[in-house]
Amino acid sequence: MSKSFSLRSVEVKLPPTERFSQFLQSRGKRITQQRRVIVETVFSHHDHFDADELIDHLQELIAERKVSRPTIYRTLAELVEADMLRKMVLGGRSVYEHAYGYPSHDHLYCQRCNRLIEFHSDDLERIRDTVAGQHNFRVIGHRMFITGVCAECQEE
Ligand SMILES: [Zn+2]
Ligand SMILES: [Zn+2]
Repeated sequence: MSKSFSLRSVEVKLPPTERFSQFLQSRGKRITQQRRVIVETVFSHHDHFDADELIDHLQELIAERKVSRPTIYRTLAELVEADMLRKMVLGGRSVYEHAYGYPSHDHLYCQRCNRLIEFHSDDLERIRDTVAGQHNFRVIGHRMFITGVCAECQEE
């Protein structure tokens, strides 16, 4: 969890732990200390990550038995259900990123190094809305991946 991204975060009314707590309450569950730590770690900075990378990041707390692996997996699934994380399956790997507090965007996906490059295009959204309109379709969102080979990998 190290690469940085250029898109600015968007203002949200509630901190992620509060938003997640509300979601859990609506399911008759409570936010435990474990879940709170996981959510704080996940939302400390924007990145694309898989469960293994998150587990690596929480290694110390796992060793101290403050967080367990099953809870990490369960919390990731709950955050996706709460629409706070977006899950993408790329090359057989489940990758997560923030949906809460982060603007909508699309990705260029390098098939050699698995790098995800983010971009936002108003032109693309216009085409999306035009196509949806032609089908009398109400847009909620979209996902687009441009697959290929990044500049660095092309040099090799
Ligand atoms: Zn690459
Ligand atoms: Zn992204």
